[in-house]
Amino acid sequence: MRTLITGGAGFLGSHLCDYLLDRGHTIVCVDNLITGSTHNIAHLAGNKNFSFVEHDVTEPISVKGPFDYVLHFASPASPMDYGKYPLETLMTGSLGTRNTRELSLEGGARFMLASTSEVYGDPLEHPQREDYHGNVDITGPRAVYDEAKRFAETITMAYHRKHRLDVRIARIFNTYGPRMRLGDGRVIPTFMEQAINGEDLTVFGRGTQTRSFCYYRDMVEGLYGLLISDVIEPVNIGDPNEMPVIELAMMVLEISGAGSGIKHLDLPKGDPKMRKPDISRAKNLLAWEPLTPLEEGLTETLSYFQELLE
Ligand code: NAD
Ligand code: UDP
Repeated sequence: MRTLITGGAGFLGSHLCDYLLDRGHTIVCVDNLITGSTHNIAHLAGNKNFSFVEHDVTEPISVKGPFDYVLHFASPASPMDYGKYPLETLMTGSLGTRNTRELSLEGGARFMLASTSEVYGDPLEHPQREDYHGNVDITGPRAVYDEAKRFAETITMAYHRKHRLDVRIARIFNTYGPRMRLGDGRVIPTFMEQAINGEDLTVFGRGTQTRSFCYYRDMVEGLYGLLISDVIEPVNIGDPNEMPVIELAMMVLEISGAGSGIKHLDLPKGDPKMRKPDISRAKNLLAWEPLTPLEEGLTETLSYFQELLE
């Protein structure tokens, strides 16, 4: 199997590189390092089945095909990152998806899009099923990401209908684990860095907003299950174990044993009030569900950040 992964030097992309290499794939990783790092793939240097191409996917990609699988994971993914790179995010979801798809069309590869729970915006239905069409504030600060991913799903399905492109669409819910970037603003690396440094944890608003956190190992299993399945329609991949952000903060304090307190800051505009995947489709069609307890995943992730900061 020859597989191209865009965003392969990022958090999820680099874990996918490892997972697919373990299954005998030859990997071409394409990344412009805007939010990722070669640190995440440094251990693969010298692996004859792995190559890295530094390239911005909003520009045509000249990597030679054919490929069996093309996985489009490039995109800034944290609210802070896409706030900092709004136009790059829009272009990576739109032009980047078009350019990446060209590669799969040439060689007849299966194309997988990393979509997101953000296509549901600030959801009015709970939990979110794949047939919910979402509630996105079109001109709000998060829309650069949400609308780029919605467009990416639309263009993916248009190519499927028009050119019979073989497609998979993963709607990924909040995922965490080693190789997230410290300072990327996402809640788990932020709370962990603060706890390790003995600083107060910054909870936005009262912390009553909810999220459902999936460990990366479960996520990668789910993504692989979808990749090798025959399911064309979008599939939610995430952990339905929902919790308020304030509870997550308390859990990080407990696991780390930090003496830090909690500092409440303003809730950012458009921050979704609740999020929880309905994973019936993944359970029924992929026979997949997450298995890692949050406490276990958080403990492993904390060790990773502790080592990194040392
Ligand atoms: P990440 O920031 O760690 O990884 C994204 C990677 O894409 C980075 O290495 C970055 O340098 C690269 N990239 C961005 N724009 C690019 C461009 N124009 N050309 C080439 N490379 C580019 O984020 P992540 O959490 O690993 O997210 C990976 C994918 O999964 C993203 O598409 C994201 O939208 C999606 N996703 C992630 C989550 C999550 O909780 N981690 C949730 C929903 C969706
Ligand atoms: N959050 C927080 N403090 C932080 C960072 C994030 O309270 O320092 C909250 C944020 O408001 C959101 C949740 O944690 O409600 C998850 O935020 P993250 O940026 O990780 O992901 P997303 O908002 O995209 O789900």
